[in-house]
Amino acid sequence: MENKETIPFHQKSYVCIHVFENVRPVLLVSREHGDWCFLCGDDHPEDASIYRAVGIGHVLSRHPDLAEVMDLLPDEEAERSKVCV
Ligand SMILES: [Zn+2]
Repeated sequence: MENKETIPFHQKSYVCIHVFENVRPVLLVSREHGDWCFLCGDDHPEDASIYRAVGIGHVLSRHPDLAEVMDLLPDEEAERSKVCV
């Protein structure tokens, strides 16, 4: 039985501007309302302008280590304190 969700490359996901510009690592992955969000884990202002919508495949190809959290279910989140490169 294949019970893993197959995620289309161009499925929309959200990143914070820090992840988008690659100035901070992805430390928080959340699926609020089922949408994938890849965030740096810092506090962000309540402002949609700091988020960018990107195809999830682009995020995963830039951060292949995120594959380990791709079994996250809607409304779950995963946090890590640092990235081991
Ligand atoms: Zn951020």
